[in-house]
Amino acid sequence: MALDGKILQRAREQLAASRRARELRFNSRRDELYVKNPRLFELDRDISLACVNAASALLRGGDIARVEADNLRLQDERMAVLRKMGLSPDALDEVPNCPLCDDRGYTSDGMCVCLKRLYKNEQAKELSKLLKLGRQTFKNFKLDHYGDEEREEMRRNFRVCKLFAERFSVSSSKSAGNILMSGDPGLGKTHLSCAIAREVSEQGYSVVYETAIAFCAVFDKLKFQRQFDEDLERDANRYSTCDLLILDDLGTEMKTTNTISAVYDIINSRLVSGLSTIVNTNCYTEELAEDYSPQIASRLLGEYTVLRFRGTDLREQLGPNGTM
Ligand SMILES: [Zn+2]
Repeated sequence: MALDGKILQRAREQLAASRRARELRFNSRRDELYVKNPRLFELDRDISLACVNAASALLRGGDIARVEADNLRLQDERMAVLRKMGLSPDALDEVPNCPLCDDRGYTSDGMCVCLKRLYKNEQAKELSKLLKLGRQTFKNFKLDHYGDEEREEMRRNFRVCKLFAERFSVSSSKSAGNILMSGDPGLGKTHLSCAIAREVSEQGYSVVYETAIAFCAVFDKLKFQRQFDEDLERDANRYSTCDLLILDDLGTEMKTTNTISAVYDIINSRLVSGLSTIVNTNCYTEELAEDYSPQIASRLLGEYTVLRFRGTDLREQLGPNGTM
């Protein structure tokens, strides 16, 4: 399962922020206690010094026994001071929020559960952001909005999408497949792709849902940027590495040699890596070769499951949030 670099970055930043907050809290509490009892400050300073002396005695063959005795005496006095102040011996120990990784996010076994939890939260936030279009799910997709002629085809489209979401997996041996949804606007393409995005993302996979306009804007900016832009690079990288990419509204973007080549590259490279892609387009399948390129058309029509959407625009019948 590929982690989304942009989301992981945000999760890491959160972890770092909570580590800094913890350090600040600890420092201000320690300083308060030092003011209350300056002897505590002196003891902590002397204990640090004793540790340095112990290390240097070890290296240079000094009187280790004496250094150790000094250290023990200081520790005993420190404990007594804390007790007198009504505090426990570990009152000044800095306690991490996550004892497994000391709030670093990684252990010797890899990513720590605390960072995984933050990543999952960020992923859920990202999904709700990308699904702000509405609350489209498979459950609220209604076939009876379609006319008698289109209903059977839509039933098949619905089944293909639902099965795709339910069986979604990422393995080197078998890709979950690719879907091309083609047809006029307002016939449920966005509804079904949002339902897939939601379900696949809830299974923990990284899903990027992007309109063709936003996708092409990234590649235009990348081409014409004057200096390295980390965010842009990260966006472009997400398109090629996420577990599922949904490219919505292909055909509404400005077509230039640069954007057409970006569309071809993403479709091709994801096919080569066995990563799934869903492309929604208002173009008819027979127009793809002419509107884009014969190569793009051949990839989309040859390697994708093609779902055709026909009928009359349903949006007038829909509720305010776009559900059907
Ligand atoms: Zn941890």
